[in-house]
Parts: sequence; structure tokens; C-alpha cells
Amino acid sequence: MEKNFKIGIIGAGIQGISNALFLQKKGFNVTIFDRDEPGSPAASYGNAGHFSPYASVPINRPDVLTDVPAMLLSSTGPLALKWNYVPKMIPWFLKFIRNCTTKNMMHTAKNMHQILDLALPAYDELFDEIELGGLVEKKGILYIWNDKNLKSRKLEINIRNELGVDQQEVTPKEIHDLEPNIKPIYHGGVYYQHGRHARNPKKILLKLFELFLKKDGKFLKTNVQDINFDEEKPVIKTETERYIFDKIVIACGSFSKKLTDNLNEKIPLDTERGYHVHFKDCEHLLSRPVIFQNRGFGITPMEQGLRVVGTVEFGGLKNPLSKSRIKNLINNAKYMMGDLPEHEDEWLGFRPTLPDYLPVIGPSKNHKNVFYCFGHHHLGWTLGPISGKIVAGMIANENTNLDLKPYSSLRFN
Ligand SMILES: Cc1cc2nc3c(=O)[nH]c(=O)nc-3n(C[C@H](O)[C@H](O)[C@H](O)COP(=O)(O)OP(=O)(O)OC[C@H]3O[C@@H](n4cnc5c(N)ncnc54)[C@H](O)[C@@H]3O)c2cc1C
Repeated sequence: MEKNFKIGIIGAGIQGISNALFLQKKGFNVTIFDRDEPGSPAASYGNAGHFSPYASVPINRPDVLTDVPAMLLSSTGPLALKWNYVPKMIPWFLKFIRNCTTKNMMHTAKNMHQILDLALPAYDELFDEIELGGLVEKKGILYIWNDKNLKSRKLEINIRNELGVDQQEVTPKEIHDLEPNIKPIYHGGVYYQHGRHARNPKKILLKLFELFLKKDGKFLKTNVQDINFDEEKPVIKTETERYIFDKIVIACGSFSKKLTDNLNEKIPLDTERGYHVHFKDCEHLLSRPVIFQNRGFGITPMEQGLRVVGTVEFGGLKNPLSKSRIKNLINNAKYMMGDLPEHEDEWLGFRPTLPDYLPVIGPSKNHKNVFYCFGHHHLGWTLGPISGKIVAGMIANENTNLDLKPYSSLRFN
């Protein structure tokens, strides 16, 4: 593979920037395109900041379907729909249901585990090159629940044991010792001591972006409208310009589908909308992220204060923010923490999700010089560097011991 190959990357989220940095390590000449400045309010900016190498068990579970109606009816629960979008999402839901068998759940769990297990070392390769300045905490991540009968919990714990994931079940007393400011509403929990958290995902992203620029990376702030070809070379088309590359990577998160549709590949990417609010000056109340499992939200101590994050809302990319979901987060946060001041910063973000809860990483079906890196759903912040490292290895034609077939877009044919 020619080292002076020109690579274009569309998307400056954690996936695009990680791809760029690992491609630069191999000596390639890289240009990133994004319609916004890096660190703009995309998913990579507003996420919960968890580095979660343990989170291999997907939402597709045999028991999830019986739980959905109750979740939808509950005002404290994690699930919501924008009814105007439901008809558009039916094909996605049908594929999701097909992936709720034990066999398919285990397929996803094993293949998520394969890359999650490598996620932190891949981050460290990038972090070794920047001054992190206390932006990453290594204090583990705590899950708690107050529903003794939550069916999926035991299943998750068993699968993680099977996969060899480090986890520690904790009693109410141990939870109190770890996080004394949470109200004693919980019955139990699990502590993942190897989890880490970001104190400000945007600042980390910008530090990685600065590293990219320092290594002669180029950035163009422009909306990519389409991809054409000049012979076999991909051409990135904006409103006014055409840019020709040897290879390109599509890393537009939830917005990747427009481009893959144009390339005549029907990949069933959709979005799980999620929200956050901040409670300023309250970050001292928690030492680490705490996820309230049966209510489907979490709180992370960050520079901005306590960031309360949650909701899975099916509603596409165009519907406005739902005030009821913001209210749900605020009420849940107060239920868990007691009195909190007025919240700030109501944010809606888009998790890019395929119905089998595996990302798409690898070459396009129809064009060998086009690569995909999107669809990392709830785990895209954790999986940025490892996905970038995998794509860079593919573009450099290197051998790997990893089984990369499960992430191929060909699985949807
Ligand atoms: C509420 C919430 C909480 C989350 N919490 C966590 C967590 O704690 N841990 C974790 O691991 N993951 C978490 N995630 C998931 C994670 O944030 C995402 O999976 C990840 O950020 C996706 O990164 P990305 O680079 O693929 O996409 P994005 O961050 O969405 O970036 C895509 C970029 O592409 C650009 N773009 C799109 N279309 C075009 C175009 N046509 N032309 C030019 N530019 C374009 C956009 O402007 C954007 O900058 C969370 C997500 C949400 C919504």
C-alpha cells in the first residue's frame, strides 16, 4: 500500500478523528470533512462519557419484547417513541425482533466483546500522544437498581461471566461506601472497576483533533453531499467542489445512511435518540458514573457539573427535542440524588444503531476504495480508537487475528 495515499474521512466525531489518527500513524495523508466544527453538539460531544469495555450484552434479548409495552407506558422508564416516525421504522423493528433470539444475542455479545476488550488499549495509544490534564478518571463505573425482579439483570451478569468480563456484584452497603450521596433507594448493583469516564468529552475530542492537525492533517468545514467516482477513485462532492482521493471513510454516525444509500447499499441504520442535562456545580456529589439500570439513565460527574444522560427514543433525525424526556431525566436525577438546583443545557443527540447492535466497520459492498465506520450505538465513544485502528489496518492491507466479518455491511444482504 502506497504510504502517500490520500485518504478522505467524512465526519469529525470520535470515529472520524480516531480513524484519521491511526491512518496518520501508518503514514497516510489524511483530510477530514465535517459540516460543523469538531466538538460541535454531535453524539461525540454530548454522550455520558463512559469508557465501558464491559458493555458487550446487547439490548436484543429474548425477554426484551415482553418488557417493551410496560417500558413505553411508564413515565419513569427509558423508552419513548415519536409516533409520526413509527411507520418509517417498522422494517428496522422487524429486523431488531429477529435479532432477539438467544443465538443472535450471543453472536452480538461475543463480537462486541472482541472489540470492547481492545478499546482501552487503543485509547491509550492515542492518549500517550496528548496531555490529558485530568480529563479521564479511572474510578470504575457503578450500576444500581431498585427493581429486585429485573429479569435481564441475571442474564447480563451470566453472559459477562461467560465472556470473562471483570464485574463485581455489590450490596447496598458497598454502594453506599462507593457513593454516599445517592439516596438509599437501591437494592443492589454491579461495579465495573475497569470502567473509566471522561470529565469533558468535547475537550478530549478537541485535543485529539489538535494532534491530527499537528501531524499535518487537513480539515475542511463543509457539508458532503455525495460520493462519485473517477475511474475507481472516490470523489467527495460538496455543494461547490469535488475532491478526489485514493480511499475514503464514511464516519458520519447516524447521518451515514444518506451517503450509503447513494452508494446503492441499503444498510438499515437508524437512530436511538438520547438526551442530557447538566446540574452545574454538583459534580462533587458523585465520584464516578452511576447508571440507574431499571430506569435507563445515568449520571456522570463532569466539568460541566452532573451530566444526567438517558432515554432511548425512536423518532428519527428530524423530530424536535421532546420536553417530556428532559423532564423524565430531571425527575429521575432528583429521585436518585435528592435536591438539585435548576438544570442547564438541554441536549438531544443521535446514537447510530443497526438492528443487530453491531457496528459497520469495513469496505463497502460495491466500492473497494470506500470504507465504513459507523453504527456504534451506545458504545461509540468507547469504540472510537479501536474502530479507527481496525479501519487503518484494513486500508494498509495488514493481516489481523481478529474476525472482522461480523462487522461487515454484507451481513445485511
Ligand atoms: C445520550 C447519549 C449518551 C451516550 N453515552 C455514551 C457513553 O457513555 N459511552 C459510549 O461509549 N458511547 C456513548 N454514546 C454513543 C456515542 O456518543 C456515539 O456512538 C458516538 O459518539 C458516535 O460517534 P461518531 O463519530 O460515529 O458520530 P458523531 O459523533 O455523530 O459524529 C458524526 C459527525 O459527522 C458529521 N456529518 C454528518 N453528516 C455529514 C455530511 N454529510 N457532511 C459532513 N459532515 C457530516 C457530523 O457533523 C458529526 O460531526 C452516547 C450517545 C448518546 C446520544
